[in-house]
Amino acid sequence: MTNFGTLAVHAGAEPDRTTGAVIQPISLSTTFAQNAPASPVGDYEYSRSSNPNRDSFEQALAALEQARFALAYSSGSAATANVLQSLAQDRHVVSIGDVYGGTHRYFTKVANSHGVQVTFSNSIEEDIEGLITPATRLVWIESPSNPTLSITDIAKVAAIVAKVRASRKEAIHLVVDNTFLSPYVQNPLTLGADLVVHSVTKYINGHSDVVMGVAATNDEQLHERLRFLQNAIGAVPSAFDCWLAHRGLKTLHLRAKAASNNAQVLAELLESKIGAEVIAVAYPGLKSHPRRAVVERQHRNGLGGGMISFRISGGAKAASKFCSTTKIFTLAESLGGIESLCEVPAVMTHAGIPQDKREASGVYDDLIRLSVGIEDTEDLIADVLQALQAASAN
Ligand SMILES: *Cc1c(COP(=O)(O)O)cnc(C)c1O
Repeated sequence: MTNFGTLAVHAGAEPDRTTGAVIQPISLSTTFAQNAPASPVGDYEYSRSSNPNRDSFEQALAALEQARFALAYSSGSAATANVLQSLAQDRHVVSIGDVYGGTHRYFTKVANSHGVQVTFSNSIEEDIEGLITPATRLVWIESPSNPTLSITDIAKVAAIVAKVRASRKEAIHLVVDNTFLSPYVQNPLTLGADLVVHSVTKYINGHSDVVMGVAATNDEQLHERLRFLQNAIGAVPSAFDCWLAHRGLKTLHLRAKAASNNAQVLAELLESKIGAEVIAVAYPGLKSHPRRAVVERQHRNGLGGGMISFRISGGAKAASKFCSTTKIFTLAESLGGIESLCEVPAVMTHAGIPQDKREASGVYDDLIRLSVGIEDTEDLIADVLQALQAASAN
């Protein structure tokens, strides 16, 4: 059992040992009976520490990220918090500049309260060697980044981190937030990353009805440390959410492929409008993407994923008009679900960033972010065309 779709359907999803149920029951019990003190009847004692549905989800996710271990959390943000909590006081982190907003907030407003310092870089591939100090324990990247979909060469950064690790006693780990692509499109551990984190809320659950997170690794020591914190901090998902997210994960390959195929068609359509209704398009599946060669190395079949961002002609007003005129694309934050969404980062997901900093990283008032769903391609094309027309008639 080695191919992705087969693993998605079957990993961690054995028929129930006692009843034969093909789909695992939802195990709501918080506590588990013991035969004698410290001798549980089965594998479980108390549901925060571990429970059957979380175990199954974690096994499935580990298989899809080609990891030995995975740990589930109550949100992607909780996964991030647990990783940062694993650092001792006064340690240092190097992060890409346009990291997810909630991660940036945790780095600068929470982790700093126990002395953890974070250095941000917009050209991490070039700068990283100079930015790593003796106190550096983590390097944090997202590829593609949000919302400008810039690509970082993960293997290149991993090689530098490995070189630093070989030259000293203290651990240093490369973390990749793989939320934007899902394990179907990219497996950072196979590119040399030490830990991969996801907001399961997005592609992995895929149905916009669960908030959850996960971290996966092949490093046993790192796993043990994070597993201890998962229980000690207690930001764990419910059995019901694990069950739902596991159900969602079983179709990840179908959804991710469909979303990526739709996004490719829409990105090419938008690109054909440059000079008219469109100013620029960022999509890793386009030949014109500046890091297309890296995309071909690190994404499955060079897929571009389901996220597109583009600048519309006509400024903030046109961006607003586009997003309130679409009929299939719902104007909403978040991404990675079966349904198509659109948003204007400058006034929604990225509104907290000062304008000059925002524009320096490419987030202009006229930038629109699309999360392309799995609806029929021709309906999405028609929707984008009519919204572009309405926005340019403004
Ligand atoms: C949504 C998101 C997160 C945070 O996940 P939550 O489940 O909302 O806590 C982290 N990283 C990225 C890239 C995200 O898109």
